[in-house]
Amino acid sequence: MDIRDKVAKLKGVGPKKSEALEKLNIHTLEDLILFFPRDYEDRRNKVKICDLREDRPAVIKGKVERAVSDRYKYGRKQLLKLLVSDDTGTIEVVFFNAKYLAASFKAGHEYIFYGKPQMNFGRLQLVHPEFSRNEDTAEGILPVYPLTKGISQKEMRQWQADIKSLYSKAEDILSKDIIERNRLCSLSYALKNIHFPQEKQKLLEAKYRLIFDELLTLQTGLFAARQNIKNGENGIAFTKDADVIPYIDSLPYPLTGAQKRCVDQIMEDLESGKVMNRLVQGDVGSGKTAVAEIAMYKAVKSGYQAALMAPTEILARQHFEGIGNSFKKHDISVGFLSGSMKASEKRATLERLKNGEIDIIVGTHAIIQPDVEFKNLGLVITDEQHRFGVSQRVRLKEKGQNPNILVMTATPIPRTLAVVLYGDLDVSVIDELPPGRQKIQTRTLGQENRNKCYDFVEKQLDAGRQAYVVTPLIEDSGVLDVRSAELVAQELSSRFSNHKTALIHGAMKQAEKDEIMASFYRGEIDVLVATVVIEVGINVPNASVIVIENAERFGLAQLHQLRGRVGRGKHKSYCFLVMNGTSEVAQRRGEIMESSSDGFYIAEEDLKLRGPGEIFGTRQHGLPDLNISDLAKHLDVLDNAKKEARLILTEDPMLRSVENQGLRRRIVKLFGDDMTLDL
Ligand code: ADP
Ligand code: MG
Repeated sequence: MDIRDKVAKLKGVGPKKSEALEKLNIHTLEDLILFFPRDYEDRRNKVKICDLREDRPAVIKGKVERAVSDRYKYGRKQLLKLLVSDDTGTIEVVFFNAKYLAASFKAGHEYIFYGKPQMNFGRLQLVHPEFSRNEDTAEGILPVYPLTKGISQKEMRQWQADIKSLYSKAEDILSKDIIERNRLCSLSYALKNIHFPQEKQKLLEAKYRLIFDELLTLQTGLFAARQNIKNGENGIAFTKDADVIPYIDSLPYPLTGAQKRCVDQIMEDLESGKVMNRLVQGDVGSGKTAVAEIAMYKAVKSGYQAALMAPTEILARQHFEGIGNSFKKHDISVGFLSGSMKASEKRATLERLKNGEIDIIVGTHAIIQPDVEFKNLGLVITDEQHRFGVSQRVRLKEKGQNPNILVMTATPIPRTLAVVLYGDLDVSVIDELPPGRQKIQTRTLGQENRNKCYDFVEKQLDAGRQAYVVTPLIEDSGVLDVRSAELVAQELSSRFSNHKTALIHGAMKQAEKDEIMASFYRGEIDVLVATVVIEVGINVPNASVIVIENAERFGLAQLHQLRGRVGRGKHKSYCFLVMNGTSEVAQRRGEIMESSSDGFYIAEEDLKLRGPGEIFGTRQHGLPDLNISDLAKHLDVLDNAKKEARLILTEDPMLRSVENQGLRRRIVKLFGDDMTLDL
C-alpha cells in the first residue's frame, strides 16, 4: 500500500463506501491518515454491572446468559434482547430491528459492551451498545471520528488500524529546524497517538504537533495570498477635492462621533494613493451603511465606480433601495446585480457598468463573477464580511484591478483574534450607537412561562407590530428535546389566527427565502418563524419582538446578532430567551444578555464561556474549515506558526524549493478551489 493509493484499496471499501468517504473529503489513504478524530472515548476502565449509572457511558465485560427473545415485536420492529451478566449482576442489552445480530452472540461467551445505560421501567438497559469479542479494538482510548451516512464508527476505526503501517510514510511538511525550534514530536508519533492514543499526555503532544502543522499551513497560505494584496501597495488615489460634506449634510441625521472618526480614517486611506484594506467593525445598528455611502460618494466624486456586495439577495436588495434613494438627489446612478436576475436585465446592467453609466453597483457575489467588467472600479465594499474571504479578494485582484477595499462587519471579533485573521487589515471601530436608541428589553424565561410570553407577543401584533420566533431546528428530531421551527410555526398559526404566520429556514431555496423575507418586510407576514437564516443584517423596523426558543442552544454572539433584528425602528422592542432546563453556562449567557447590549463585551464573554464543542466557526470569517485547530483556543500555537510561516516565505516566497512542496500541496488542499494561489 502507498499513501497515495485510493481508499478503494482498503479491505471493505467498495464503490459505495468510497463515495461516502469522498463526502468526508477522503480520497486517498493519506487523506484518511489526516482525518482526525473529533473526540475520544476512554474505555480503559471497565465497570462492573452493579456500578452502572444512568446516562453515564461505560464499558462492561459480561457473559451472554441467553437471548431472551429475538421475536419480540416492538411496534413493527424486531427486537433482540440479551441478558448479560458479570459477577456483580445482570443487565438487559437491547437491539431494535436487528435480528441479524442474533447470530453474533453465543450463549455462554463473554463480550465487551460499550454504551450509555438508560432507564426503562425502573431498570437499567443498554440500548444498541457497541460490542466486540476482541479486547484490542474495544478497549483503551478509542477515537471518535466525524462520520457521514453509510460509514460506521467501527468501520472507520478498523480502516485507521489497517493503515497504521503507513504513518511513517506520511509527508512531513516541517523541516528538522522547525521541529527542533518548536520542540515538536515527530510526525509518525503524532499520527499514531492522534488516532490511537495510549495515554492523555501522548495525545496532547500529538495534538500540539498536528495543530502546529495545520496552523502553519493556514498562515503560510494567508501570507502567500496576501503577498498579492498587500496593504500600502500603490493604488488609486482619490482626489482631495472630492469633498464629502455635501453628502453628509444630505443625511437626515448628524453623524455620531464614532462614525465621524471612522469616515476620517477612511478618507485618509483613500487619498493616500496606497491601496486601502480596512475593516469596519460596528455593532448592529451602529450605522455602518452611512459610512459606506460616504466612502462610495468619495469614489464617484473622484471619478471612479464603487461596488457594494452583500451576502444574500434580500440584503443586497435592501441596500439597493436605500442607497438608490440616498444618491438620487446627488445625481449618482445606482445599479443592481444578482445571480437570479433575468438574463436580458443582467446584460443591460453589465453593459452600463462597463461603459460607466452606472456609478455604484449593489449586489450579491454576482458582482465579482468573471463576466462582470467595470469601466474603472475604485472601491469595493462588502457588508457582513464573514462570507467574503481572502480568496475573493484575490479574485478581484485577478480581474486586473487594484481597488480599495472596505469590509464591514457586525460580528464582533475579539481583538486578539482580529489581529490574527486580518493581520494586514486596518481596523476601524464604530463603538457608539446613534442617540435615542432604546435598549431592547431582554428576559430569559423557562418553559412554564412560554404562554405568557406569547400572550405578550400577541399584544404587540394587535398593536400592529411584527415578531420573529427563532428555533434551533427545522423539523422535529424525535430525539432532542427541542421545539422545531415546523412545530412552532404550526402552533403559532392556530394560536394567532388573526395574524399571518410564516416559516422560513435554511433548507429552502434561496428564491423562496427571499420571497418570504420580502413579504415580511412589506408587512404581509406578521410572525416569522425562522431558523438562524435571519441572523444576518436584515432590517424590518416594524418588528418589535423576538422570541428565541431553546435559547440554551445558541452561543452568545449568535443571540446578540439575533436580538439585533429588533429595535431597529421607533418602537420599544423586546427579546425573550426561552430556556429549556438551564445549564450553568446557559444561565450565565442569559444574564449577560439581560444586562448588556454591547456587542464587544458580549463577544469577549462569549470567548470566555465557550465550552468544548462550540467551535469557533472559521467559515464565518472567510477562512477554510480547520480540521483540528480552534483559533479561539490555539492562539499561542498560531503565534509560533506565524513566525515560521514568515521565515519560510522570506526564504522561498513562491514556495518553489523541493522541501516546501509538501507544504504547498497542503495549502492547496486546505484552501481548496476557494483559493487560487498565485504562487
Ligand atoms: P448597521 O451598522 O447595523 O448596518 P445601519 O447602517 O443599518 O446599521 O443603521 C441602522 C439605522 O440607524 C438606520 O435606520 C440608519 O438610518 C440609522 N442611523 C445611522 N446613523 C445614524 C445617526 N448618526 N443618527 C441617527 N440614526 C442613524
Ligand atoms: Mg448593515
